[in-house]
Amino acid sequence: MNKVTRFTTGLLADSGDTPEQLLQHLCAIQQQFSYIPEPAIQQLADSLSIYPAQIRSVIDFYSFLHTEARGDFDILFSNNITDRMNGSLTQFDTLCHRLNVKPGIPRADGRVTIDTTSCTGICDQGPALLINGIAVSNVDSARIDSIAELVETGAALTDWPAEFFHINDNIQLKNRILNSSSMEGNAIRILFERGPDHILSVLEQSGLRGRGGAGFPTATKWRICRDTIANHHYVVCNADEGEPGTFKDRVLLNRYANTVIEGMTLCAAVIGAEKGYLYLRGEYRYLLAELESVLMRRRNHHLLGKNILGQPDFHFDIDIHLGAGAYICGEESALIESLEGKRGIPRNRPPYPVTCGFHNQPTVVNNVETFVAAANIAESGVDWLRSTGTGQSPGTKLLSISGNCERPGIYEYPFGTSVEQILDDCGAVHPQAIQVAGAAGTTLPTSEFNRTIAYEDLSTGGSFMVIGQQQNLLEMVQNFSHFFCHESCGFCTPCRVGGQLLKNLVDKVVAGHATAYDLTEMQNIGRVMQQSSHCGLGATAANPVLDTLKKFSGVYSKQLANTDYEPAFNLDAAVEVSRQITGRDDIDAYIKDRS
Ligand code: SF4
Repeated sequence: MNKVTRFTTGLLADSGDTPEQLLQHLCAIQQQFSYIPEPAIQQLADSLSIYPAQIRSVIDFYSFLHTEARGDFDILFSNNITDRMNGSLTQFDTLCHRLNVKPGIPRADGRVTIDTTSCTGICDQGPALLINGIAVSNVDSARIDSIAELVETGAALTDWPAEFFHINDNIQLKNRILNSSSMEGNAIRILFERGPDHILSVLEQSGLRGRGGAGFPTATKWRICRDTIANHHYVVCNADEGEPGTFKDRVLLNRYANTVIEGMTLCAAVIGAEKGYLYLRGEYRYLLAELESVLMRRRNHHLLGKNILGQPDFHFDIDIHLGAGAYICGEESALIESLEGKRGIPRNRPPYPVTCGFHNQPTVVNNVETFVAAANIAESGVDWLRSTGTGQSPGTKLLSISGNCERPGIYEYPFGTSVEQILDDCGAVHPQAIQVAGAAGTTLPTSEFNRTIAYEDLSTGGSFMVIGQQQNLLEMVQNFSHFFCHESCGFCTPCRVGGQLLKNLVDKVVAGHATAYDLTEMQNIGRVMQQSSHCGLGATAANPVLDTLKKFSGVYSKQLANTDYEPAFNLDAAVEVSRQITGRDDIDAYIKDRS
């Protein structure tokens, strides 16, 4: 038996051989061998009763899975705009040069691959990168020199300086959630004392709404799920925070994991679930070991597993599922597809996951911050949330603040706090714009800095990127349009094709070749994407373009070429390679001016 077969056999024996395990097995094989070897695909196909072609299509879907070997050190630089503001491009080029590597191509000796990836959720300590899935922050010139040397010597990652892998929680401002110190098991004890209806009533009165950005009332979601008759109910924690500029879940999972699990267990007791899943984005793999140890400790304390706290009828446990680099899996139905081991293609909705989710059973999918808030409300009562915030948005919101400011990090504010106040606190000096709610969110000009963070005004999952005067705003728009193109799952035409067309036009604007006609085209394409895309990704992908076209029109008009029309496609350049191959360089090989 060779090592690939031996490893895959062990995986199947230890972690199960149901089809829903496919993605987890692929992640483990990728981590072990730096790619998914063909014999492993065949073995998984036989054991899980899935066609090899299906397995290859799953591998193809996720950015972190490969069928060709990567380098022994697989280095991925975060490509978010905030990392770029901190100089990631220079560090990327320097490391490629130092190690003699072409981007994305393993070095001939197989030692190293260097590439980029979407936001890694370390925007407050960027530039950041992942090495074999482990995060490195504050990548400056000195760190690049060390990394180049360590790679050349082939030192194991365990022998690298520990400070490279230290990710600071970077909490700058605490309020309700970050000051909470709930007693382990207290929320569940209260539920057993007073019953699930009491918990639902407290959540309802508190006005807790989902903290992912959409703001659906949490009690309503839990109640619908509970009241849907089915064989099984499930709880899912969406820890796939991939929105560029967001990193609050990283901190909650690192420092408040116990409360996250408490909230999930509370939900399970209310809706009658015996199984829960914490879907952890692949970029946060370095949090996995500690999260597993929290789960184990709670099992030992009878807070997970059979007969929780001695209750004869309450059994509940949680598995952690790793994502593999697909932003779309933050969309709840795509996340459920991914949990089932498939490509993360969003489902048709309705039916919604709350009545027809994991394995078509009623499923509560909530954000990490929502579960933390729910556990605290159950323990401390309605006023814990209600006594701050606004009428429509009670409580507080965690913000991940990054970009051009002196004090990036995690801030917790009562809903209703103004953007001006936030900018003051984080040390943003005369910014030209703020990107709220990530790439799919809103671009605020200075005239809108009096707006407030609240569901009734600026609703956000927590991303808050400060764009200083020195930044070229179009660089941000270009970064986001490339991001959405890369992250589109390709299922529907408006997003797949529209996103590509939009990206090409933004590139044309940045290159200084665009005309007024192109700007109109961008608006038309953006509107089609908004109105006819299958899911929220496509519906919001044009937001940065449309928002900045409307609010920062001067930035675009400065870039316009002085012609009425200029083609997006340079035919002469495109056929240059053919000319060289055929040796034709005569006048007839060129496009003639027929005017
Ligand atoms: Fe996929 Fe984009 Fe369509 Fe959503 S909108 S289903 S991400 S192609």
